[in-house]
Amino acid sequence: MSLLAVEDLRTYFFTPEGIVQAVDGIDFELEAGESLGIVGESGAGKSVAVKSLMGLIREPGRVVDGSIRFEGRELTDLSEEQLRREIRGNEIAIVFQDAMSALNPVFTVGSQLVEVIRENTGRTETEARARAIELLDDVGIPDPEQRIDEYPHQYSGGMQQRAMIAMALACDPKLIIADEPTTALDVTIQAGILDLFEDIQERYDTSVIYVTHDLGVVREVCDRVAVMYLGKIVETAPYEELYRNPKHPYTQSLLNSVVTPDATLDGIDPIEGTMPSGVSPPSGCRFRTRCPVAFDECSRLVPPRYDDGTDHDVACLLYDERNPRDEPALHERPGRGDGSAEGFTDD
Ligand code: SF4
Repeated sequence: MSLLAVEDLRTYFFTPEGIVQAVDGIDFELEAGESLGIVGESGAGKSVAVKSLMGLIREPGRVVDGSIRFEGRELTDLSEEQLRREIRGNEIAIVFQDAMSALNPVFTVGSQLVEVIRENTGRTETEARARAIELLDDVGIPDPEQRIDEYPHQYSGGMQQRAMIAMALACDPKLIIADEPTTALDVTIQAGILDLFEDIQERYDTSVIYVTHDLGVVREVCDRVAVMYLGKIVETAPYEELYRNPKHPYTQSLLNSVVTPDATLDGIDPIEGTMPSGVSPPSGCRFRTRCPVAFDECSRLVPPRYDDGTDHDVACLLYDERNPRDEPALHERPGRGDGSAEGFTDD
């Protein structure tokens, strides 16, 4: 049994401008100890997807359909009270991008950490303080016995993020969700935080979902990658395979636009255009308005996810075996996708 199994998850926002289909029918699984990167541009729906897992979607949004099973337990059936007491923090913890706004500026880092430990583990004040010092040490805060009594503003940006990671670890969660945790940090500090995630995943035997717009970042920390575009997962593969053999035109564009230290400006090829609104997404394939190889059927048919019998699947009509273009065709995975590519003609 997978640690986490998400099926046909849909989260919509009911706004005066219309219904924003922020997450529109995504499926993925996560095994114990695995790290998954969810990657896409701003507006792809990746943060909404992970907040949906934790029941953190607020009005005017809500999960309208789908299943989220964590260790076999259906989370969409739980009340807010059950999610708060039994899931958030204890089983699944989240680390946000902006540590400073997640930490309370009027309390010391230590008092906030001790409170979380006491509330979730029932330890005494003394035991919780000892555990808090251990955790600060584990996440690389120097002199934790002294720094535990400092306020968040006395920590650097990188140290604040480390303190948030300590907070996430406080209850030994089985899954940590890291939502763009390094975006606000400069590059050298970012590298240290990525190393820390790798390290804690091993030491604490924790699964991690890493949400980022940066494919260069997932390279550091993820076993597997799911690429999202406008509320849909368009490709998933083990990290090495995705980099070696990207199949979806969007993934190929994302990889072409990754800035590496040895890249020349000529070698960087930014993606044309901007992501359309989730209120009225393009018909058929949602990427078609920016896709350099779109063809007629792309505006009529919603691509299901196809795979080639390996752990690599892609939602693009180029890979349908009935594709009228002379392109490589893969086999549709039984039971996956919505079958709406049945508009292909066999002539
Ligand atoms: S289905 Fe068509 S528009 Fe969508 S990514 Fe594939 S080729 Fe491009």
